[in-house]
Amino acid sequence: MSEYHQQSSVEVMEKLDVTEKGLNNQEVQIRQEEYGPNALEEGKKTSTIAVFFAQFKDLLVIILMIAAIISLLLGEVESTIVIMIVVILNAVLGTVQHVKAEQSLDNLKALTSPVAKVKRNNKIMEIPSEEIVVGDILLLEAGDYVSADGRLLECHNLQINESSLTGESLAVEKNTDLIKDDQVATADKSNMVFTGSFVTNGRGKVIVTAIGMETEIGKIANLLDTAKEKKTPLQVSLDHFGENLALGISIICLFIFTIDMIRGREIVESFMFAVSLAVAAIPEALSSIVTIVLAFGTQKMAKENAIIRKLFAVESLGSVSVICSDKTGTLTQNKMVVQQVFVNQKIIPQDQLNTEHEMERDLLLMAQLCSDAITGEKKDIGDPTEIALVKLGRNYQLDEVAVREKYPRLAEIPFDSDRKLMSTLNRVDQQNVMITKGALDVILSRIAKVETSTGISFLTEESRKKIEDVNEQFSKNGLRVLAITYKNTNNQSIDLNDENDLIFVGLIAMMDPPREESKEAVESCIQAGIKPVMITGDHKITATAIAKQIGILKDSSEAIEGYEIEDLTDEQLKEKVQDVSVYARVSPEHKLRIVRAWQDNGKVVAMTGDGVNDAPALKQSDIGVAMGITGTEVAKDASSMVLTDDNFSTIVKSIANGRSLYANIKNAIMFLLSGNAGAIFVVLYATIFALPVPFAPVHLLFINLLTDSLPAIAIGLEPHNKKIMKDKPRNIHQPLLNKKFTTQMILEGILIAISTIIAFQMGLSTGDNVVATTMAFATLCLSRLIHGFNSRSKESIFSIGVFSNKYTWYAFIIGTLSLHAVLFLPGLSSVFEVAKLTTYQLGFIYVLSFMPFLINQWFKVLYFRGK
Ligand code: ATP
Repeated sequence: MSEYHQQSSVEVMEKLDVTEKGLNNQEVQIRQEEYGPNALEEGKKTSTIAVFFAQFKDLLVIILMIAAIISLLLGEVESTIVIMIVVILNAVLGTVQHVKAEQSLDNLKALTSPVAKVKRNNKIMEIPSEEIVVGDILLLEAGDYVSADGRLLECHNLQINESSLTGESLAVEKNTDLIKDDQVATADKSNMVFTGSFVTNGRGKVIVTAIGMETEIGKIANLLDTAKEKKTPLQVSLDHFGENLALGISIICLFIFTIDMIRGREIVESFMFAVSLAVAAIPEALSSIVTIVLAFGTQKMAKENAIIRKLFAVESLGSVSVICSDKTGTLTQNKMVVQQVFVNQKIIPQDQLNTEHEMERDLLLMAQLCSDAITGEKKDIGDPTEIALVKLGRNYQLDEVAVREKYPRLAEIPFDSDRKLMSTLNRVDQQNVMITKGALDVILSRIAKVETSTGISFLTEESRKKIEDVNEQFSKNGLRVLAITYKNTNNQSIDLNDENDLIFVGLIAMMDPPREESKEAVESCIQAGIKPVMITGDHKITATAIAKQIGILKDSSEAIEGYEIEDLTDEQLKEKVQDVSVYARVSPEHKLRIVRAWQDNGKVVAMTGDGVNDAPALKQSDIGVAMGITGTEVAKDASSMVLTDDNFSTIVKSIANGRSLYANIKNAIMFLLSGNAGAIFVVLYATIFALPVPFAPVHLLFINLLTDSLPAIAIGLEPHNKKIMKDKPRNIHQPLLNKKFTTQMILEGILIAISTIIAFQMGLSTGDNVVATTMAFATLCLSRLIHGFNSRSKESIFSIGVFSNKYTWYAFIIGTLSLHAVLFLPGLSSVFEVAKLTTYQLGFIYVLSFMPFLINQWFKVLYFRGK
């Protein structure tokens, strides 16, 4: 039996029982039931059980387990049980969080799942790629991922990058010709396309021959690469910190244990000291809190139209110092509407054309013929520039589908943003007419003649100047201008060299107004020390006009054109970028150089993109931002964040979110570590002064795992502080745990320790060690709960609002109630070995626990006064 590449397209269509109109709904349904969804099976994910056991590999957990075993050997069975319960509980929590975090990332990814364009019921529609069936007619264009294997029915300069299948990084040219041989390698099947490859150029129509696991990639790779999400730099540095901490603690514990033994303390007691210290120091909740806060953060951002595809982006966002943004659709509304037309030497408003007049009618017809956009009742499909052109004709009762049927297209050279041109060859009244449209500055040198109602004449200096003047006049008003030209040709095929000797018909100028929110977003960027830069394929004058309106450009000297970059060396460009805010007539490879130049200046760059050619620049930038609506699948794949509303202001909002998220995580870490430091100081104090053990391990585990995690999460959810966009971007290379951070952590720890030591000493003065440990435990726990309010912000609680984060209150209330349950519920107090306290002692505990908070707030009020 011959393979698809050996059959003509007619044969393949017959075999798969499809007509030119595509499948109908019923056929699609039957096939979907028969073949299932078009998806590659995913590689095995780590099972939940494996995730659970992985929790025990944590060094800190190992220390706890060793402590449990030694406790057991020493006959401290209760301690062993408590530690083991805690360790298991910790592993369960860790597993739940891991699974949840993975789910939430999967959900986020699903929001940007790929779509494909197919022809069904004789209509072109967009569907999720998963719903493609064998026999579907698939339409491909530059920037699309090929989402099924298929035989080509039509091809227009179609070039496909098949590197994921063949390893060949250069795109291959496709055609529809029959291949006779049966032993043909995948790479040589030039009349077929394959899943996993992507279109770099041109257009094509394909009949789907295989989907899902039946495709070539399904057969060879058979498992989708479910590459693990890499940890974020912060998570890596916390892991690192955890390892160092564990090592440090082990050494100190051993040291204290040895000293105690030399001093003649009992072995059990000495050991309990060491264990207490280890438990006091280990921030058990740290890594899970970072995961939870990141997960909440990404969900919030998704609701605000920014989908994070790579988790590290959340952190880098806060450090962004330059945003390079496209103009069309990102800073502007991408709702192009034709405003004015220049035809027959006259400027005519779009609603005052006269289609009785041949030239005016021809202009509208050519604009429709040389476009691919289709207008629909519900949704228009295609490039907004072309939609505007098609709609202009529609306003004068020209139906693009009928027009295209009447003057069929024989060949085409698609638009691409490098060339800024597009040409089609159409059959018009027994003649082949080539229509070329595009940017005037690119087309002008290719124009030989000009058509007016009196006839066609050669382009003179005068007529050329007139066209240029009109173009400039349109552009100054921020309009995008397209020139429409044509020529009669008898040649059936067209190639790039044919786009010469053109006859000028007219200019069509369209408006794409700035988005309302762009101006405010630009202003907020500038205030936040972030430089907004506009990079556009549009004309310099148009770009300058729009950039001035939204505040990106103050002085026209800050605007340059793409070709000017070509003359600069990397070193010169590095200097130049600092003074440029607008790049016009840019091609995608200029974008790559601009990103690199900014990075050479030590800046963290966010770059937007939508086309297939933007992928390298998106990958090179620190935060690649793809457009969710107009972006190609390839651009989305190369980016770390996708905007579902294509809106510049969403990037700025995400930066604000990234900044607060980082600040919140930092505050949560500060809260946890300063509390731990407090506990460590108390244990050290007791060792130095040869006092009894101040806390049982269970007390510290109760605090670290329960009462401390609640405020930590609440701090992670601290609402946006408006002032966050008044600061300069954070230096990405500055480690979180720097000197300033450590000093603050130690000072806050000392405050908590002083209160706890006073309580401990008061307890000891009663002569009952259990009362002493109870008082120390209660004070440590409560002061840390209250300390949660300190850690919300570097500012005082009064300036950020006492009740502005309700979660901190919930955390405080639940934590305090739990502490009192331990102190007063008979069952619990025996497990926690706590003594019954007098009201007087309790009152003291409350006062002492409040002290660190008061001192901390007093300091903040003083420090931030007038700031
Ligand atoms: P931005 O980079 O701001 O998003 P853009 O990507 O829309 O701008 P391009 O699409 O590269 O910019 O367009 C550059 C120029 O090419 C336009 O100014 C216009 O003159 C011309 N142009 C745009 N679309 C088409 C098209 N479909 N056919 C022919 N010419 C076009």
